[in-house]
Amino acid sequence: MGFEGVLGHEFVGEALEGPLAGRRVVGEINAACGACADCQAGLGRHCAERTVLGILGRDGAFAETLTLPAENLLTVPDDVPDEAAVFAEPLAAAFEILEQVKIQAGARVGVLGDGRLGLLCAFALASAGARVTLLGRHAEKLALAKKRGIDTLRSDADGLPAELRRCQDVVVEATGSSAGLFAALDWLRPRGTLVLKTTTHDVPPASLARIVIDEITVVGSRCGRFAPALDALASRRVDPSDLVEAVYPLSQGERAIDHAGRRGARKILLRVEGGA
Ligand SMILES: [Zn+2]
Repeated sequence: MGFEGVLGHEFVGEALEGPLAGRRVVGEINAACGACADCQAGLGRHCAERTVLGILGRDGAFAETLTLPAENLLTVPDDVPDEAAVFAEPLAAAFEILEQVKIQAGARVGVLGDGRLGLLCAFALASAGARVTLLGRHAEKLALAKKRGIDTLRSDADGLPAELRRCQDVVVEATGSSAGLFAALDWLRPRGTLVLKTTTHDVPPASLARIVIDEITVVGSRCGRFAPALDALASRRVDPSDLVEAVYPLSQGERAIDHAGRRGARKILLRVEGGA
């Protein structure tokens, strides 16, 4: 987005002002204008005039304080620890899939990519009763899915095993690579649904042909409402706290960023002490 400013859009903190002052809160990251046609239709996440925390026109959460409109804030239930609540934003993005695609209990869903978002998508879809298979590169991350009863598959250069081709009702592409896009199309049954979760694709023309021939429905999916994610955290249907790999104080933010950039790193948190 060419953003310059304070990064960070996933946070849990204490509201200092406004109707929730003194409460522990998370916050939806899109601050919409409230007046345009998209906003009037309840689609503030698509408002053309919006600012986005730590991403577009609004300083983010790697700081002692940040500002968001009061209506963006949600109270965190007391029994949800910070280490789980801080996942509300990416988990909301994962639950967005369930608002966009009707997934029957027992539906076969493939998730491509064991990055942080891919894992959360797998957890969210499994919590909704789907039969999830996660395809990823990192044994340690796949183990996190396996212990939640999710089938896992180590990806390699040879692509999918023959028995897994053309059998999934829904495939979530969360690798952001065009190779991932091909694998997703190999995995889907005819008339299946491809959910695109990442934005860095170049789209090879051959994949467009596959989408036509197999009559694939393609759904772009980005941010979601926080309420379903907070519900899942509060009821422990999803507990992502074992995704946390390390916690750094804000004063060691550069070390934290380096660590987060290591291959296969799980979630790195910054702990911000003090505040206004
Ligand atoms: Zn608007």
